[in-house]
Amino acid sequence: MEVVAPRQATHEQLVRVHTPEYLKRIHETAGQAIALDPDTYTSPDSFEVAQLAAGAAIDAVERVMGGVHTSAVAMVRPPGHHAERNRAMGFCLYNNVAVAAAHARTLGAARVAIVDYDVHHGNGTQQTFETDARVLYVSLHQYPFYPGTGASNEIGSGPGLGFTVNVALEAGAVDEDYRAAFAGVVTPVVEQFEPDLILVSAGFDAHERDPLGGMRLTTPSFRAMTLTLRCVADACCGGRIVLVTEGGYDLHALADCLDGVVDALVSAPGEPAWPTSGIASARGEAAVSATQQVLAPFWKFG
Ligand SMILES: [Zn+2]
Repeated sequence: MEVVAPRQATHEQLVRVHTPEYLKRIHETAGQAIALDPDTYTSPDSFEVAQLAAGAAIDAVERVMGGVHTSAVAMVRPPGHHAERNRAMGFCLYNNVAVAAAHARTLGAARVAIVDYDVHHGNGTQQTFETDARVLYVSLHQYPFYPGTGASNEIGSGPGLGFTVNVALEAGAVDEDYRAAFAGVVTPVVEQFEPDLILVSAGFDAHERDPLGGMRLTTPSFRAMTLTLRCVADACCGGRIVLVTEGGYDLHALADCLDGVVDALVSAPGEPAWPTSGIASARGEAAVSATQQVLAPFWKFG
């Protein structure tokens, strides 16, 4: 394993996702502490740190697409998946994972799958690629919840119809619900898409200890979700997988989950060991059947 310092994303790399006006506005926050949105503030260092966060995601993609490494984790702040083309929101300035996906396409990835297991819906990532059939966006999230988007009937539009997949889980979902969502939706759809690279919006705020999220996932589930995706990557794209961190607000849970996901990437591959909560819940089943129903014209479900 190699640990490397990030470099800044360039204007050319960021402008594939964000408008020039928006990039100018974010640049103007350099050295300033201001509010961009009711949830999204900058410190004097935020501009530079955000440039490095997007740059880390870019660097991770370059290393994996270039064959230097099979997998990579970009451990970044601020997160990115709420940032829209011309709007900062939900603590996010640049949409790091979207910038990474756009960059991967320029490096020869014909199809890129983004799987987002942050507890919140990645409205910005969905918006960026909703008309694009070459970038699949699959999100599992608490619903209804911030930011309000991510209903199961949001499935993309135009040529991207069917390439946005939302598994909208009721608050209180447990390990078994996420396992059901992976088996019933995430794995079959990503496998059929046959991506050249899998990107993961790796948020840890669906953890039972997270102060913002309302889910009850335990630490081993984050390892299991990551290992499941690694196995899909092994089967369909030479193991190429890049994780980019998103939310996660209990620092001890965040540290434990990061240990688990890094281990899932570097250890010998095996069957994901999903934990068992022992709590009865039909949330996963309900979300899976709603998503399967609306996406049945586009994907085969077992
Ligand atoms: Zn989140």
